Amino acid sequence: MNNLNNLDCLCKVLNCHGFEAEVFADKDLVAKRIFKMVRGHSVGYGGSMTLRSLGIIDKLGDYAGRVFSHLPGGAGEDERNALTADFYLTSANAVSMDGQIVNIDGTGNRVSATCFGPRRIIYVIGKNKVVNDLDDALAWAKYAAVRLAKYYKRKTPCVKTGKCENCFSPDSICSITTIHRKKPSGIDVSVFLVDEELGI
Ligand code: SF4
Repeated sequence: MNNLNNLDCLCKVLNCHGFEAEVFADKDLVAKRIFKMVRGHSVGYGGSMTLRSLGIIDKLGDYAGRVFSHLPGGAGEDERNALTADFYLTSANAVSMDGQIVNIDGTGNRVSATCFGPRRIIYVIGKNKVVNDLDDALAWAKYAAVRLAKYYKRKTPCVKTGKCENCFSPDSICSITTIHRKKPSGIDVSVFLVDEELGI
């Protein structure tokens, strides 16, 4: 599943769904592309292990006109301003080969931005998040949620049992699940598929 040919196939499907998808051989090429796109513009971003692994967060200020940063669990002014920025950077929890992008979010800022608000979303998605179909994408996103809950030391049952217990804990990172089956009509969306494993 996880090779360049499959990324090329997925890229074509996503483009048919209205997204502007491209395949990149590695994360350095993606980082260069993003810096070029955001130069002089306002940029917001959501909490993302993928963006961190790209190494771009600390350097965004050198290129962008303004950067609205995200703190873990943050829901303040920066997160609100990020929703109306020129660009919003994020990843996805999973994407299926039939072109459906799945995200699970606890605060909601990240998934809100992917629906409407910023002028352009840029998704960066590593090959490890590419799965066969929507069922697999939902399962993979939930698997990622368990690992993220552990990483952020949340007080949730999955941290103890290692699997989703469908909790309603205040500490749950699973408030909202979004499925993008096509590009939302009110925003432009780039999807950068990377032939490397990135994020959880
Ligand atoms: S147990 Fe709760 S926080 Fe953990 S994955 Fe399931 S719904 Fe999310």
